[in-house]
Amino acid sequence: MPSGRHFLQIPGPSNVPDRILRAMDRAVTDHRGPNFAEIGGKALEGMREIFGTRERVVIYPASGTGAWEAALANTMSPGDRVLMYETGHFAALWARLAGKLGLDAQVIKGDWRSGADAAAIGAALSEDRSGRIKAVCVVHNETSTGAVSDIAAVRAAMDAAGHPALLMVDTISSLASVPYAHDEWGVDVSISGSQKGLMLPPGLSFNAISKKAEAAAGSAALPRSYWDWEEMKGPNETGYFPYTPATNLLYALNEAIDMLREEGLEAVFARHRRHAAATRAAVEAWGLEVLCAVPADRSPVLTAVMMPQGQSADDFRAVTLKHYDMSLGNGLSKVADRVFRIGHLGDFNDLMLCGTLAGVEMGLRDAGVRHRPGGLAAAMDMLAPARRQAAEGRPEEHTEVQAAQ
Ligand SMILES: *Cc1c(COP(=O)(O)O)cnc(C)c1O
Repeated sequence: MPSGRHFLQIPGPSNVPDRILRAMDRAVTDHRGPNFAEIGGKALEGMREIFGTRERVVIYPASGTGAWEAALANTMSPGDRVLMYETGHFAALWARLAGKLGLDAQVIKGDWRSGADAAAIGAALSEDRSGRIKAVCVVHNETSTGAVSDIAAVRAAMDAAGHPALLMVDTISSLASVPYAHDEWGVDVSISGSQKGLMLPPGLSFNAISKKAEAAAGSAALPRSYWDWEEMKGPNETGYFPYTPATNLLYALNEAIDMLREEGLEAVFARHRRHAAATRAAVEAWGLEVLCAVPADRSPVLTAVMMPQGQSADDFRAVTLKHYDMSLGNGLSKVADRVFRIGHLGDFNDLMLCGTLAGVEMGLRDAGVRHRPGGLAAAMDMLAPARRQAAEGRPEEHTEVQAAQ
């Protein structure tokens, strides 16, 4: 085993802070005992705050994929059409899952280099005169490409088309890292997971549910049992669950909620933006290209970097892992071996970012990837003034546009 800490710089699972590991390191408790109500109740309430909702949240002992399935299985009937925007690999997987459940997934193909095109969604809805589309499904932060979609714009396009479909949003890799507002944006089902911005190990996932989605569940005919929102309802009202919850992960979740409250969500979001801008400054200095071609859509959570023509991202990642014990994200499906992804999310600070970017820069050199040196220096130049501004209580001035200069 190499000495020192492994750098886990994939865009989820993210690094789990020691404080959360300590919080989980407890005897397993009786999930039907009198003390459990407070633990379950705090987790459910805290997640409502993080989703930005006054409506119901459910928590599953499952990965994010389970919560995708739950969102559809609770609200749809066999053969229902769902409109899905393919921002990248994860959006494509969600569409495949919908097909396996017996839904008719109508996919709008994106170019994998930007967020969802709200106008294209609006146009597809306007053409749906017979009202066959029952849900619009969008990935907020496409983790395979590093592009964020404007959910408020999607909602506005749906309203402008006067279409009654439900709006479902995958916020698995954006929740608690990128501003999110379930109620304000009129989202019907929000889907998230534990192992990204929430800083927990994998194993929990979530649905936030609007009243409209809850009403749709009343007549939705897809079979469901484990995922059934209705089964959760009674027990959740008093902080309990219908089956065994992941008790120690709920301790961890409550600790994460405390940590996010202490730092303040706005400060957490600003920190992610700052690290993203510094990473982009490094990529620019290296003379490499960011996969997301629309600066305004670039993700605060991760940066997908394109390899120079003819060079292998996977070879580069293997060298970086071997020499510096750092894991970087791989290119998925369509962009396999063409990009690598730098995760800059969760429990992260300036020096961890500098270590990460130093590892990338040394790895580029070791693997013989064509690039210019100086990426780390460019990131440091961006971090120092941002740090000074924050210390002086001035609003952060750097933006993605400045970062691209
Ligand atoms: C990680 C991720 C998923 C898949 O979640 P699992 O926990 O691996 O099931 C889905 N969507 C997005 C956007 C993700 O980042």
